[in-house]
Amino acid sequence: MRYISTRGQAPALNFEEVVLTGLATDGGLYVPETYPQFSAAEIAAMAGLPYTEVAYRVMRPFVGDSLTDDEFRGMIEGAYSSFSHAAVAPIKQLDSNHFLLELFHGPTLAFKDVALQLLGRLLDHFLAKRGERGVIMGATSGDTGSAAIEGCKPCEQVDIYILHPHQRVSEVQRRQMTSVLAPNVHNIAVEGDFDACQAMVKASFADQSFLKGQRLIAVNSINWARIMAQIVYYFTSAVAVGAPHREVAFSVPSANFGDVFAGYVAHKMGLPIKQLIVATNANDILHRTLAQNDFSKKQLLPTLAPSMDIVVSSNFERLIFDLYDQQGEQVAALLERFQQQATTLDANAYAKAKALFSSLAVDDATILKVIAEAYQKTGELLDPHTATGYLATQTCAQDPATPVITLATAHPAKFAEAIVKAGFAEGAPLPLHMQDLLEREERYAVLPADLAEIQAYIADKQAQKTA
Ligand SMILES: *Cc1c(COP(=O)(O)O)cnc(C)c1O
Repeated sequence: MRYISTRGQAPALNFEEVVLTGLATDGGLYVPETYPQFSAAEIAAMAGLPYTEVAYRVMRPFVGDSLTDDEFRGMIEGAYSSFSHAAVAPIKQLDSNHFLLELFHGPTLAFKDVALQLLGRLLDHFLAKRGERGVIMGATSGDTGSAAIEGCKPCEQVDIYILHPHQRVSEVQRRQMTSVLAPNVHNIAVEGDFDACQAMVKASFADQSFLKGQRLIAVNSINWARIMAQIVYYFTSAVAVGAPHREVAFSVPSANFGDVFAGYVAHKMGLPIKQLIVATNANDILHRTLAQNDFSKKQLLPTLAPSMDIVVSSNFERLIFDLYDQQGEQVAALLERFQQQATTLDANAYAKAKALFSSLAVDDATILKVIAEAYQKTGELLDPHTATGYLATQTCAQDPATPVITLATAHPAKFAEAIVKAGFAEGAPLPLHMQDLLEREERYAVLPADLAEIQAYIADKQAQKTA
């Protein structure tokens, strides 16, 4: 399997190289040159198999000869043994044809665990093979940081540094990061906001000289392995509700477009997906683009669904590349225009997107109403991100005979503020195995929002390791 850049100017890479590489050198994102195809018989044969077996079958073609069968199987088993539900991603029926896919049974209670548990193991393996150490650096306003930390905790070749804005993440989110006491995990509380954290991480990637030759690795959602791991649950859940004999639809709470792009890939691989519904919060670039062909940036709005607070959806470029028939130069030109001013997709590309995608933007007041109403109707307490997907299903589903699967991307206990505001004064309880979270020992450094100081801190820690 070869991977090519969405902007057409960077060298093609194999799977191992693509896992270790962030952005392509031309500024694009890596995608497979072609998508593997699954026949109806192959999809039907997935019925009743364990999650890990479907995961192996769906992902194997993307890995090529970068791993042996046994190596890859071992990583998959390790990654998903950290989930607290035997089905890994169980589905619940909400209504005659509406299902909830619970993606929050991983160690940090959000769907990002599905990908990051595997990515940590892939990185560790490839670095060990090369005799290298890697340094992961990331900024987080919540979910990504803790999922990355949990994913990298067992890694021997990787040190991870996560910057979060001091006193500006929820207590549950902070403790999920800072109570991981593994020697390769480093939490830095920055005396500044999320943008300051993000800017320092960006600057560190642009000039890595402070690391004296160690490799800096990005684990944000542009890493292809994250998309790949997310394709799996589209297959398992679709098969559980009747695919390939029936068509299915999905509703996906979306921000960077990584999760729903995985659904698009599943569709390209032969899974009979009739409709992909994209739900956003008030940060609605995806909705404006899909509903009105208004591809433009808007100022960031902090919302009750903070893991979906974005200005630009980085993975949307992967869809554009496909809609533009893999014409990298046209993609590069469109994205350059987009950086300068409001723009539109060309008519042919837009028509193709409209044939599969629908969308809805949901503001904070509506999120609260939906949480309360969904509980009344179904007895399920939805987290604020999932609530956007739930409403989008009710609003956008085209065909009452087609089952719709709404992705539940986080556990409600992670977002107590919204749950209380929705009228549940006691919040949502943490799952049993996490009930001591608020008593666990924490470890983190508090540092000023100063690039030189942060880099000196990291360089010093790394020098101690290699000494
Ligand atoms: C990251 C996240 C999303 C958005 O996923 P994308 O892949 O960025 O579209 C939605 N819900 C939750 C809870 C998240 O953590």
